[in-house]
Amino acid sequence: MAKKYCYLFTEGNAGMRELLGGKGANLAEMTNIGLPVPQGFTITTEACTQYYEDGRKINDEIMSEIMQYVETMEKINGKKFGDLKNPLLVSVRSGARASMPGMMDTILNLGLNDEVVAAMIAGNPDPKLERVVYDSDRRFIQTFPDVVMEVGKKYFERLIDKMKAEKGVKFDVDLTAADLKSLAEQFKAEYKKQLGEDFPSDPKVQLYEAIRAVFRSWDNPRANVYRRDNDIPYSWGTAVNVMPMVFGNLNNNSGTGVAFTRDPATGEKKLMGEFLVNAQGEDVVAGVRTPMPIAQMATQFPEAYADFEKVCEKLEKHYRDMQDMEFTVENGKLYMLQCRSGKRTAQAALKIACDLVDEGMRTPEEAVLMIEPRNLDTLLHPQFDAKALKAATPIGKGLGASPGAACGQIVFTADDAEKWKAAGKKVVLVRLETSPEDITGMKAAQGILTVRGGMTSHAAVVARGMGTCCVSGCGDIVMDEENKRFTLAGKTFHEGDVISIDGSTGNIYDGAIKTVDAKIEGEFNRIMGWADQFRKLSVRTNADTPRDAKKARELGAEGIGLCRTEHMFFDPERIAAFREMICADTKEQREAALDKIMPYQQGDFEALFEAMEGDPVTIRFLDPPLHEFVPTTEDEIELLAEAQGKSVDEIKGIIQGLHEANPMMGHRGCRLTVTYPEIAVMQTKAVIRAAITTKKNHPDWNIVPEIMIPLVGEVKELAFVKKIVVLTADKEIADAGIDLKYEVGTMIEIPRAALLADEIAREAEFFCFGTNDLTQMTFGFSRDDAGKFLPSYYDTKIFENDPFAKLDQAGVGKLMDMAVKMGRTVRPEMHIGICGEHGGDPTSVEFCHKIGLSYVSCSPFRVPIARLAAAQAAIRSKGE
Ligand code: ADP
Ligand code: MG
Ligand code: MG
Repeated sequence: MAKKYCYLFTEGNAGMRELLGGKGANLAEMTNIGLPVPQGFTITTEACTQYYEDGRKINDEIMSEIMQYVETMEKINGKKFGDLKNPLLVSVRSGARASMPGMMDTILNLGLNDEVVAAMIAGNPDPKLERVVYDSDRRFIQTFPDVVMEVGKKYFERLIDKMKAEKGVKFDVDLTAADLKSLAEQFKAEYKKQLGEDFPSDPKVQLYEAIRAVFRSWDNPRANVYRRDNDIPYSWGTAVNVMPMVFGNLNNNSGTGVAFTRDPATGEKKLMGEFLVNAQGEDVVAGVRTPMPIAQMATQFPEAYADFEKVCEKLEKHYRDMQDMEFTVENGKLYMLQCRSGKRTAQAALKIACDLVDEGMRTPEEAVLMIEPRNLDTLLHPQFDAKALKAATPIGKGLGASPGAACGQIVFTADDAEKWKAAGKKVVLVRLETSPEDITGMKAAQGILTVRGGMTSHAAVVARGMGTCCVSGCGDIVMDEENKRFTLAGKTFHEGDVISIDGSTGNIYDGAIKTVDAKIEGEFNRIMGWADQFRKLSVRTNADTPRDAKKARELGAEGIGLCRTEHMFFDPERIAAFREMICADTKEQREAALDKIMPYQQGDFEALFEAMEGDPVTIRFLDPPLHEFVPTTEDEIELLAEAQGKSVDEIKGIIQGLHEANPMMGHRGCRLTVTYPEIAVMQTKAVIRAAITTKKNHPDWNIVPEIMIPLVGEVKELAFVKKIVVLTADKEIADAGIDLKYEVGTMIEIPRAALLADEIAREAEFFCFGTNDLTQMTFGFSRDDAGKFLPSYYDTKIFENDPFAKLDQAGVGKLMDMAVKMGRTVRPEMHIGICGEHGGDPTSVEFCHKIGLSYVSCSPFRVPIARLAAAQAAIRSKGE
C-alpha cells in the first residue's frame, strides 16, 4: 500500500505525534473531543523526510495527495482557493514532534491575490471589512517572502515604519484601509525588486511554495541550534498543518490570545495569559502592542471567555497536564488554534507535578516522568542574597518572566553576548524584544532584559525553556540600540555597565548584587524522594575536595565515584615537594620527596572519608603526565634548582626531557607506576592510613576504600600495579592490627581494556568507565582540539551532538556494553560505574541504566539531574 502523507484533523489523534507532529496531533485531538478548531489537514513528518531524501523536492505523488486534501478541505469548509464568492484562506504551520517554539515559520492568510481582495471587499457591505482585507493581505505579502523566499523582513518593516511616520500614528491598527492597501502595493513592488519576479497570485502555487518553505525551515540555523540543545534528532522532520484562517483582526469584537492553564513561572493553579483585541497571529507575542491580561477578557468578551474557561478545564482533564494554548476570537466566537503541554520553569514543573498527584490526576511515577532533568539545573544555581536584595533599591520593574538571579555587564546584541561570553565575561542581554535569531546570544547571557513583550513573548518563552533568568516588558526603559545605551530612572546605561535583574520579581537593579546558593526543599525533595524509590542506579559524585563532597552529599550523592588525587598537588607547598619528586635522580630521592607529600594526601583522604560518612569513596591514583606539574616561570625554576642542589640548566634539561609529542597518549596513568612504583606505594599508604584513622574514629561506618588504577590497557599492567598496592596495603593494615577491607579496581578508558574486559576482570575488583578518555581514544580525536572542527561536523550533519557531552551510544556505548557483559562473566558481583562527564547527562544516564551499570558519578551540581534521569530510565524500562 502506498504511504499516506496527509491526514484530516478528523483522521488523527494525540497518539500520532511522530507522524503528525505535536501541533497536528493535538489539533486532531482537540477536534476529536469536540473543541472548535478550523478544519484542515496535516502533511506528515514522513513527507518532510521524503522531501530531504528527494534532494529538497516535494515529489509528484505527495503533491497530488496534498491537492486532493485541499479539495476535501474546500468541501468541508464550503470555501475554495481563489474563489471570488467564498475564498478559502489558510495558514501553513510547521509542527515537529517536539515543540520548537518560534524556530520554524508560519504563514497566514495564504490564498489572497488581487482578484480575491477586490471581490472580498466588493462582496461585503460593511466598509470596515475593507480594512481587514487589506490588513490580512499586507500581512500575507509581508511574511510570505520572508519565509518562502528568505528575503529579509527588514525591507517590509521599514516600509511600515515609514508609513506610520508619514501618517503620524504609533500602532498598526491606526493605519487606514487606504494606508494598508498602499502598503500591500509597496510590498509587492519591493518583492519584485528583491526577487525579480511577480508575487505569485495562484493560491496553489503559493501553497506549494509555503509547504516547501516549512520543510526547508527544519534545516535553518536557529532550528539546528535549538535541536542540539534539546536532544531533538534531525531525522525526525517536521509536519505541516494547513488550515482555514479565522480572523482575530476582523473588528473590536475579535482578537487573538495565548494562555496557560497554570502559571508557567510558579506553577500556581490559575489561568494565565494575554489577549490582544483586533489582532492576528503573532501580534500578541511579538510585543507590537501591549496585550490585556486574560482575566480582562471576562468583561469585554463574556461569552468567548466562558467558553474558553470550559475549554481549559476540558483540556487539562484530558491531557492531565498544564496546557499552553493559542486561540482566536472572531466576531465573539472562540476558535482553538493550538494546545500543548506548556513549557515551564523548573520550579513550576515541580509544583505542577506535585499538585497533579495531589489532585489525583497523576501517579508519583508519572510525576517523576514529567520533570525535565536538565531543567533542575536552574534550581541549583545561585539566587540573590536576601539581605543584599532587601538593601538594594530597584531602578525599574518589568515582568518576572523566568526566575533566577542574573548579574552582569550590559550588551545590546546577541552577537556581542556571544563574543563577551567567549572572552570570559558575564553579560545581561538588553533588547527591545528578542527574536529567534537571538537564540545563541540568549544562551550566552546570564540574563535577558527586554523593553517590550509580555509573559508569553519570545524572550520569556525561550528563557524559561533554557532556564535563563529573564525580565521582559520593562516599558520604562528608553532604548537607544544604535548607540548601545538606554536610560532608566534618569540614568543612562552604556554597554559594559553592570546591572542585576531578578527573574522572579521583575526588578532591575543598578550594579551587582550578591548571590547565594539555592536552597533545596519542598516540592524538590518530594519529587526526588519519589525518584529515589524508583531508580536502580546509584548516584555518586566526582569530588576532589571535602567541600565538593559535602555539597554533593547535600544534593543526594551516595558516594564518591572519582577523586582525582592529582588535583591535591597544586597547593604551593605540595607542588614544591611534588616537583622535587619529579626531578629526583634516584629512587631514594624520590621517596624522600614523596614522604613530604604523603601527610597532605592522607589528610585530604581523611577529610573525604569524613565528608562521606561511610559511603563508598573511589580514589584514582595519579593520572596526568608529569610535565603538567613542572615549573614554567624562571623564578620557579630557580627555586626548584636551589632546593634540588642543581643548576638552572640541569632543571631545564629535566623539564625538556619530560616533554612528550602526544602527552595524552604518553607517559601517564598506570604507566607512571610501572616506571615509578614508589608513587603508588605512597598513595596506597595515604589511602589506607586515612581509612584506618577514620574507621577508628567511626567504628560504625563502613569504610572500604576503593583504589582505582587509571589508563589500564593490558591485564599484566594492572597485575603489576595491583601487586604493589596489595603488598603495601596489607602491611599497613597488619601493622595497625585492624580489620579493614579495600578494593582495587580499574578505569576502563582505553578501548583495548574494554575489548579484553574479561581478562582485566580477573585482576580488577571493580570497573569504572572513564568516558572522557574512552571517547577520545575511540574516536581518535582529542577532546581539547575537537572544538575546532565540531562546528563543521554539526553543519554537515556528520554529528548532531558533542560526543564528549552526550555519550556516543553506538560506538563508545558498544564498548561499554561489551565490557560490562565480559567483566561480569568473570566476576558476576563486581560493581561497575561511569565517571566521565556523561555521568550527569540525562540520555547518557538512561543508557547506563540499560547496560546495567551499578552507578553513575557526576559533578556535585549534576547529582539531582542524574538521580531524576536514573528514575526516569527505570520507570520507562519497566514497560519494555
Ligand atoms: P508557532 O509554532 O511559532 O507558535 P503557529 O503555527 O502556532 O506558530 O502560528 C502562530 C500564530 O498564528 C498562532 O498562534 C495563531 O495566532 C496564528 N494562526 C495560525 N493559524 C491560524 C489560523 N488558521 N487562523 C488564525 N490565526 C492563525
Ligand atoms: Mg503556536
Ligand atoms: Mg582518564
